[in-house]
Amino acid sequence: MTELITPGVPGRYWHPLEDGRIQCDVCPRYCKLHEGQRGLCFVRARHDDQIVLTTYGRSSGFCIDPIEKKPLNHFLPGTPVLSFGTAGCNLTCKFCQNWDISKARAFDRLQDLASPEAIAEAAVASGCRSVAFTYNDPVIFLEYAVDVAEACQERGVKTVAVSAGYICEEPRVEFFSKMDAANIDLKGFTDGFYRNLCSARLGPVLDTLEYLKHETDVWFEITTLLIPGENDSPAEIEALSRWVLERLGPDVPLHFSAFHPDWKMLHKPPTPPATLRMARRIAQEVGLRYVFTGNTHDEAGQSTYCHACKATLIGRDWYHLTTWNLTADGRCGACGAPCAGVFHGTPGMWGRRRQPVAIRSGAGEARPAFPDWRPAR
Ligand code: SF4
Repeated sequence: MTELITPGVPGRYWHPLEDGRIQCDVCPRYCKLHEGQRGLCFVRARHDDQIVLTTYGRSSGFCIDPIEKKPLNHFLPGTPVLSFGTAGCNLTCKFCQNWDISKARAFDRLQDLASPEAIAEAAVASGCRSVAFTYNDPVIFLEYAVDVAEACQERGVKTVAVSAGYICEEPRVEFFSKMDAANIDLKGFTDGFYRNLCSARLGPVLDTLEYLKHETDVWFEITTLLIPGENDSPAEIEALSRWVLERLGPDVPLHFSAFHPDWKMLHKPPTPPATLRMARRIAQEVGLRYVFTGNTHDEAGQSTYCHACKATLIGRDWYHLTTWNLTADGRCGACGAPCAGVFHGTPGMWGRRRQPVAIRSGAGEARPAFPDWRPAR
């Protein structure tokens, strides 16, 4: 598609090809662009013979969410997280549950202008312990996410990436070096699922998960949305769970989440609660210690239990914490066995609230769409 590109900020990770096109090397799609073209994600584009990020500093809105909504159950439980996304996505999931943002092709979705410093400042001012890049995949707005993360680090605010993990090796190193936590979507456990429903491949996602486990200190959890008839067979769930156990270990939390009909999958029924419970049981029998159900009301399936004595460590009713039985250093209050995660003393008390936030880039005034406050590199 050739069109007039709105100028953006210079992007990283690309190289010119012999045929005159420029290849973007951020994700394994490797879009090859002529002048004036956008990549599949729609937000990275070729302009003046370089790749630019056209959505730097622009967001689809800010909200304070419970951290459990990302979902992250073992990262600063009970705390509020300032959450935002931009537009576009590098996957084409037919079942997308956030399609109004991820499929946005018009920048009228991007109402809020916010500098990295303003976002970090807003997190501090609103009592948020972390900022989450969520709603759409932050991999595609890497330069903005990295700058926001650096501003947050300077203010003592943690950062959280909610991502499909579909990213190339070199940008993966930079991106996750700035993150404290992540939730990675493992959308299914067959290459056919990824190819047919997401126009992607399974391998790079598994590579990202192994990278996070073995090469970084990022706390991460995994979410699998179970879609009836597509990725919910007991055999596939067992294979996925075994892979997690063998390649990542028993301590990585795994969330089985309920699908609701959306985007191009309106013909599918919602995931029955019994399917979620079945998946959780299979993963637990395989040997995973922290397995959860999501997008459904299931107190038993959403609580954390001690892997040694089975005592309830963190009780949850939706996003509300009902029980706290961890010591200050993250051990079971009953038997002393360690619980994997990031726990800083007592839990937060944010509960299930969701609170929209307006962020100003400076002293109350809106800034230009492509402002000069981006740090030079
Ligand atoms: S990040 Fe966007 S432009 Fe780059 S390869 Fe992926 S989809 Fe294409």
